[in-house]
Amino acid sequence: MQQHQRIGLMGGTFDPIHCGHLEMAALARRELGLQQVYFVPVGNPPHKRVARNESCARAQMVQRAIAHEPAYSMLDLELKRSGYTYSIDTLRQLHALQPQSAWVYIIGTDTLLELDTWRDFAHVAQLCTFFAVRRLGICEGEVAQKCAQLAVRFGARISVSQAYAAPISSTQVRARIAAGKSWQDMVPAAVKAYIEAHGLYQQSVDYAEDFARVAPRVQRALSPRRWEHTLGVVETAEELARRFGCDVHKARLAALVHDCAKEIRGEDACKLAAQMHITFDAEMRAMPKLWHGPLGAGVAYYRYNIEDEDILAAVYYHSTGRRGMSKLEEIIKLADMIERGRSFAGLASLREISKRDLDAAVIACLENTHGYLRINGHRCSSASLEAVAYLEEKQARSAHTLS
Ligand code: ATP
Ligand code: MG
Repeated sequence: MQQHQRIGLMGGTFDPIHCGHLEMAALARRELGLQQVYFVPVGNPPHKRVARNESCARAQMVQRAIAHEPAYSMLDLELKRSGYTYSIDTLRQLHALQPQSAWVYIIGTDTLLELDTWRDFAHVAQLCTFFAVRRLGICEGEVAQKCAQLAVRFGARISVSQAYAAPISSTQVRARIAAGKSWQDMVPAAVKAYIEAHGLYQQSVDYAEDFARVAPRVQRALSPRRWEHTLGVVETAEELARRFGCDVHKARLAALVHDCAKEIRGEDACKLAAQMHITFDAEMRAMPKLWHGPLGAGVAYYRYNIEDEDILAAVYYHSTGRRGMSKLEEIIKLADMIERGRSFAGLASLREISKRDLDAAVIACLENTHGYLRINGHRCSSASLEAVAYLEEKQARSAHTLS
């Protein structure tokens, strides 16, 4: 009887293929001893818009990226299929073509967390095993919990890589090209040459499109209560951005992700911080309630692939504020406090001030929090004390200029 050959399947949009993808395939070969890996560019995925590039360019880049490696080949069967493409159809087709092979689907841990949204996942889980490659910004506790849950519910057989692949995403590559930042080391040389020759990915980032891409993922990661709060902050941040002259779409996106790490706590939060190389000073270590700002910025960057530095800073500092905070930072700070779902003493007056003076409203909002902390015997963070001092100086300066 013919021996079963284990073959890795790397499904992806590959828009464009990058070094992280190649590292995943290499890790799967090394850790599982796979002889071959098939790269399968997705045709028309139901969960994602692939408008940026024709399938042909994506396939060309995959072919160029793997040309030097005999153990890799590309299958275009999903590209040829009409309508939405589903992995279950691909697996059925492969089983029919190569009935002696055993299939290992290679995915990132971000995809792992969404596996049960795949069409007919119970059947998919019978037709292949999974190798999930660790990706920065994904909480390890959540990964372990998901693996156990999928095993119990669907009999899914999943192993998780020892190592992380390089923290690169196609979204990030596209955004960096459009923004004129360096991206060339993130893709194989042949892919770089192809992108340059064809002038791909020049169109600038569309924050509204980013919002639509990220929103369902944030919603899945949060409890219904926190998602409600998030929607309130989005609405209020939009209003404040219009009122005080800030980019509305950036404000909406920052609001969307501001609490994306709030429900990761304790040991999980410590591990996630270490994974993303986020370090806290002694004061922050003593205030775990403030960790979700920095952690959220890390998750927004690595998991949701948001590159914009203003947005990341607004998430990072949204609970404390800081000296020199930007208008967007002030808007997110304030929106978080006064959104429609809040209720606390002094809220009506904060909402009143926020109709006319952004700096004064943020000062009032920080002082409200400081008062609350003091009454309850807690310390205020030095960053938020500095934020108040900074905004007061700013107000005094503008009063002086006006007089
Ligand atoms: P996009 O940003 O457009 O979503 P991507 O970089 O995530 O692109 P995909 O084509 O969506 O690339 O990826 C295919 C698979 O590879 C997915 O399961 C994804 O989780 C995984 N993957 C991609 N890059 C990495 C990486 N750097 N580390 C671990 N897994 C990754
Ligand atoms: Mg992806």
